[in-house]
Amino acid sequence: MDRSILPPAPHLRTWKGKFIRVNTFYSAAGISTSMFCDTPAGRIVMEAGDGCSRDIIELARHLPEESARSMNGIREHAEDILGIVISHPHYDHYSGLLNLLSFLHLVGRRGNVRILYPEGSTPVEDLVEHFKSTLWERCPFEIELKGMKGEEELDLGGPVLRTFPVTHRNSRPGAVGGPVPAMAYSISFNGERIAYSGDTCPSPELAGFFRDADLGIVEATYDRTPRGHEKVHMDIASSLEAASLAKKYWLTHFTSASYKALLSRRDLADGVIPPVPRAERP
Ligand SMILES: [Zn+2]
Repeated sequence: MDRSILPPAPHLRTWKGKFIRVNTFYSAAGISTSMFCDTPAGRIVMEAGDGCSRDIIELARHLPEESARSMNGIREHAEDILGIVISHPHYDHYSGLLNLLSFLHLVGRRGNVRILYPEGSTPVEDLVEHFKSTLWERCPFEIELKGMKGEEELDLGGPVLRTFPVTHRNSRPGAVGGPVPAMAYSISFNGERIAYSGDTCPSPELAGFFRDADLGIVEATYDRTPRGHEKVHMDIASSLEAASLAKKYWLTHFTSASYKALLSRRDLADGVIPPVPRAERP
């Protein structure tokens, strides 16, 4: 890992379409990713990385509506969550789920909580089991688990979720393991569409998935793909190739090395990557 720069600091990034608004504070490979997709019908939590409950509070602090800046506002938003969608069972994408379910319990959520993930994501199901077995008091909401298989379409009560299977393998520095159940997904509302890669290796099929999306959110883990890691993650070149087919795009899931390489580019529009905090600027 290149230690000459840290991964991006938490920073509120917002994309606002006609109907959909997406906010995120943080996305770094091997640490955490979570994003919040708000539609007039309600909110979808995109990935439940570590800190996602904290980010819900922080988002309430930043939302312009006065009511959101209180615990009452957060309670209302907790009831608004239409689903939690997890792209694959790697800890940096789901480890905040235990905390999020406990937080929803704490703030008095009553409506069922729907969790969607690629079929075969047993670590996600195990974590939900752990939540159920350790909760000190009966939980006021039911949890609906939905394993998605292949290309599926599901109405989440207004927004429509579409899944798109992708290839993503386990890895650690210098070693690559077996495949993980993984999906890209899009969320549409009233003809507006945001498309998110999850973690994926490059694939020509991603072009059709990102083309003409109103917002494309694409992982950019590697500056250059390490030898043998071709089936693990995107590198900057493949990431930009897919992302630039969308009308607007964000890159996410940075490492120190990919973030540093992206910072040196002059051809990226504002907001494509998070800024370096003033104190850290070289
Ligand atoms: Zn992963």
